[in-house]
Amino acid sequence: MSEISSILEKLKNTSVHDILVEIESAYERISDEQANWYETSKFTCPSGCGSCCNGFEPDIFEGEALYMAAWLLENQPETAFSILNDSYPFDNGKDTCPMFNPDSPYHCSIYEGRPFICRLFGAAGSRSRTGEKVWRPCKFYPETILKKHIPPIEKRQYNESETLNLFGTLPPIMSDLIESTVSFAAHAEETLILREILPQKIKFILWLIEMNDNNNPNGSPSNTPFAA
Ligand code: SF4
Repeated sequence: MSEISSILEKLKNTSVHDILVEIESAYERISDEQANWYETSKFTCPSGCGSCCNGFEPDIFEGEALYMAAWLLENQPETAFSILNDSYPFDNGKDTCPMFNPDSPYHCSIYEGRPFICRLFGAAGSRSRTGEKVWRPCKFYPETILKKHIPPIEKRQYNESETLNLFGTLPPIMSDLIESTVSFAAHAEETLILREILPQKIKFILWLIEMNDNNNPNGSPSNTPFAA
């Protein structure tokens, strides 16, 4: 079941509909790959941590911002409309994501609508300069827990065979997942910080829904450009 089924229905026959479907299926694929990693490695973030959202605001691709906007309009419309008035759910200062709820053990207030980077934090590997698969524990991971692992884990980069020795499996590789799951990622030229891009995309989706209404005398904007 889609997280944004009503919005998709309203955007039927538009290019944005297809982008949103593509992003959602990429998110599902990330979740499946991470489930495999968690199941075999048993290595997960400490419960209620949230340190990676503190002092961080994600830079996101246009498609991710469209998905976040659609998710908010479907699941938290009041938040979506208040963002249009430059009012975000949490005032965490200029350096911390305005969707971060410091008082909730789950922290992210838009969990099912969060972007790629936030889905991959803590459960992804990367590629070294020479293209090798590598993994390192999150810098916020408590050393006391790392030391209890058998064998103990150090705060350093592990190569592929070392990671396999530690966990018996490899985590999904962040760049590979993004490039292989979403066609736009390969040619997307830039990302924008959440607070800059999200209001534009909420506004754009509202406009597109209105234009896509069959009663609208202007007809369906199925060739609407990707950008607002
Ligand atoms: S979108 Fe959610 S997970 Fe990502 S930085 Fe903001 S609060 Fe954290």
